[in-house]
Amino acid sequence: MKKLIFLCVLGCLSAVYSVGQTQRQAFEEPKVVTPGIGAAAPSDAIVLFDGKDFSQWEKVGGGEIKWKIDDGAMVVTERTGNIQTKKSFGDCQLHIEWRTPAVVKGDGQNRGNSGIFFQKKYELQVLDSYDNKTYFDGQAGSVYTQNPPLVNVCRKPGEWQTYDVVYMAPKFNAEGKLESPARITVFQNGVLVQNNFTIKGTTYDKTTGYVLHNKLPLELQDHDNPTAFRNIWIREL
Ligand code: MG
Repeated sequence: MKKLIFLCVLGCLSAVYSVGQTQRQAFEEPKVVTPGIGAAAPSDAIVLFDGKDFSQWEKVGGGEIKWKIDDGAMVVTERTGNIQTKKSFGDCQLHIEWRTPAVVKGDGQNRGNSGIFFQKKYELQVLDSYDNKTYFDGQAGSVYTQNPPLVNVCRKPGEWQTYDVVYMAPKFNAEGKLESPARITVFQNGVLVQNNFTIKGTTYDKTTGYVLHNKLPLELQDHDNPTAFRNIWIREL
């Protein structure tokens, strides 16, 4: 009798198990990506700057890029204009390293200012925010004029810092109306500073909001300060 009960229980369990099996969702096998060693790019990333040249970049508005390459970094030459990637992007993961000048000059928005514009429209602020007060939605790690960083995790002037970003582009329907706004998650020096923030539209002209666009380049700002960038890579999502 005991044996019979045991067999029944076993039968029931295996039936439940097999139902569970058949109900499992079928997924495609995740693609194999080889991670980079240290700060190196993973195998499926597009390297936008490896310290050598501006081959992936162009000057906004045309002409020659006047920024300098110095010791494996690209350095803003003041008043020579913004630069942008030749390729356009939508949803992406971005890794970028930046350094504000070691010699501190100016204050507020005039100290180590630059910026990373996703799709040329939505700025993730770059600024020397180490012991440098400004409006909170304009300090380093902010979505410019929209959202301050969760914490101020800035390193000292002259030290390299990192941004690791997940950016989801805005989506528009067939009529060109906004279907879902852009969202951004940012880690600065490994610490979360933007947690899936919903971007409200173009970060400069507040009256614009969202205007229909497709994939667009990533743009770096010349804000009259010799801020530097290195080791830039992007993964299209
Ligand atoms: Mg800026």
